[in-house]
Amino acid sequence: MATPSSSPEPRWRAVARGAGLVDADGGLRRTVFAEMSDLAGRTGALNLGQGFPDVDGPAHVARAAERAIREGRNQYAPGSGAPELRRAVAAHARRHYGLEVDPADEVLVTTGATEAIAAAILALVGPDDEVVVLEPYYDSYAGAVAMAGARLVPVGLRPGPEGFRLDGPALERAVTSRTRMILLNSPHNPTGAVLDEDELVVVADVARAHDLLVVTDEVYEHLTFDGVRHVPVATLPGMAERTLRISSAGKSLSFTGWKVGWLTGPADLVAAVRTVQQYLTYTSGAPFQPAVAEALADEDGRVARHLAELADGLARRRDLLCAGLERLGLGVVVPRGTYFVVTDAAPLGLHDGVALCRRMPEELGVAAVPVAAFCADGSPTARALRSHVRLTFVKRAEVLEEALVRLEGLAGLAGEAGPTDGRVIN
Ligand code: PMP
Ligand code: GLN
Repeated sequence: MATPSSSPEPRWRAVARGAGLVDADGGLRRTVFAEMSDLAGRTGALNLGQGFPDVDGPAHVARAAERAIREGRNQYAPGSGAPELRRAVAAHARRHYGLEVDPADEVLVTTGATEAIAAAILALVGPDDEVVVLEPYYDSYAGAVAMAGARLVPVGLRPGPEGFRLDGPALERAVTSRTRMILLNSPHNPTGAVLDEDELVVVADVARAHDLLVVTDEVYEHLTFDGVRHVPVATLPGMAERTLRISSAGKSLSFTGWKVGWLTGPADLVAAVRTVQQYLTYTSGAPFQPAVAEALADEDGRVARHLAELADGLARRRDLLCAGLERLGLGVVVPRGTYFVVTDAAPLGLHDGVALCRRMPEELGVAAVPVAAFCADGSPTARALRSHVRLTFVKRAEVLEEALVRLEGLAGLAGEAGPTDGRVIN
């Protein structure tokens, strides 16, 4: 893998650097989710790190996939996606948000939201363009922006009594003549923030004033709590024509392994993304596509009931975990959506979330992910959130209860030396 020093940096190395996967000594790491799930697997720890449910989604949707396999939906699906899935995605957008999209040329089915995000960035952003993201940000954004040779410009969310909030003036300041795209994520991973109307108006004003594209990652669109509703920024005046919305079946349907995602928006932008996407995977998940179509069409309302129960159950598990973390003396910013909570270990004297997450599986039997992994190296947000870790509550209540018992050991970790990984814990 060695490259002569006169050669330009190979793209993979720029991706690793951009995504923060290069250690201080030049070593290459895998993503934080791979690293922490691997550690959880090796130590037998409860995995509150990587976000995936420990209970499957609706049985009738799984049966629809089985049926599709039996009925021979096993060869390539059409490149843009199975027609019934494209129709169901469009109907879902109309039913939930009043958004009109044409299934013929304004919907593209992808291999999860991850591929939609990467394809949108590769298609629409070029070398030296800038992409504004909310920080902390989902890790694949930095990877995809680096693949495009573009520059990631993070805008820090600020923690407060109302949860993490968008700093409007900071968003304004982040935009330059090179800014091409705002990549927005709401409900937001990892903070659980759900952007409200005021915040969305700020984003829309900035996007219109500077003629920017907006790509929205809405994979947690149905996972909101306390009566908070997710509002797509595409529903604001003048926004549908500049916005590509992305979602997937993984989180709403609790089938994260199916990797069926989609992207919707104006036909010219969708065509641009499709052009790139057809050379990434072209198509995938043929028998899952009709099953997801059936779920999104939801003719008998069973999926609507599943979503209502999922959100209710998650709100209760959020309360269980947040109350437990508070009892342990940790700082908690209560999430309004997603299935993650960001918690601050500093009150227990634990100031380095990265080092802490490397110790937790072995020493406490619980895996988490450091919020620093969602931040640009050395950014003000990374510094401010250095002692924060993300835990998922999309696990059965008894698992969360057991995790809380194990986390009582956190207090005992303060002041002790961690494993010799070159990082200092306190
Ligand atoms: N965006 C966010 C914010 C996520 O948390 C995830 C993980 N589900 C993804 C995108 C990727 O979604 P998918 O598994 O559908 O590729
Ligand atoms: N979206 C999941 C999370 O945030 C992880 C997906 C992945 O493993 N890349 O935990």
